[in-house]
Amino acid sequence: MANKTLGLESNLYEYLQQVSVREAEVLKQLRQETEKHPMSIMQIAPEQGQFMALLVQLMGAKKTLDIGVFTGYSALVVALALPPDGQIIACDVDEETTKIAQKFWEKAGVSHKIDLRLAPALETLDQLITEGQNNTFDFAFIDADKSNYDNYYEKALWLVKPGGLIAIDNVLWGGKVADSEIKDNRTQKIRNLNKKLHQDPRIILSLVPIADGLTLALKK
Ligand code: CA
Repeated sequence: MANKTLGLESNLYEYLQQVSVREAEVLKQLRQETEKHPMSIMQIAPEQGQFMALLVQLMGAKKTLDIGVFTGYSALVVALALPPDGQIIACDVDEETTKIAQKFWEKAGVSHKIDLRLAPALETLDQLITEGQNNTFDFAFIDADKSNYDNYYEKALWLVKPGGLIAIDNVLWGGKVADSEIKDNRTQKIRNLNKKLHQDPRIILSLVPIADGLTLALKK
């Protein structure tokens, strides 16, 4: 895991941040608050958040999914980029970290755009499919437990519309995916999904080496 862009020398990474990151004050404050958390590395990098905000604006997205909320940075950065009637369905099981998320969504004045579903994300996604919300989402961000990554991808692929975008986080997994000696379950799951996506005719694909690797899968 990494919450900064991999593979850049630190001086170049600092330069990238200096000349490009435009992090809203409330996002900065959320980053500071999250730093106190033992799993703070799970928070996405600011340059990645900014990139995702640019993508949703480029697409004119209105309805999105946030699979894996943690302390709410990805949902917040997307919510700030959505129009006033934009909507995010945010999935997580952790009451404690999502309390922090809700506090900052409130503070940023975007909580009306975010519908937090505290339940296993697969259940929430299945429920949305059962309700007939297939082909209605513009954008989905997958950043939850890696063991279910393929399941999240398959369900997100039902839920986004043709021309909709699925963004999948941590696909370079700190470089572990490229080391064939590493065979733990999470690394294997990510490696298998990467391999599958490479051959998946249902999508248009790009793996962007920003932060810990962000795959973009555009549904055909
Ligand atoms: Ca992540």
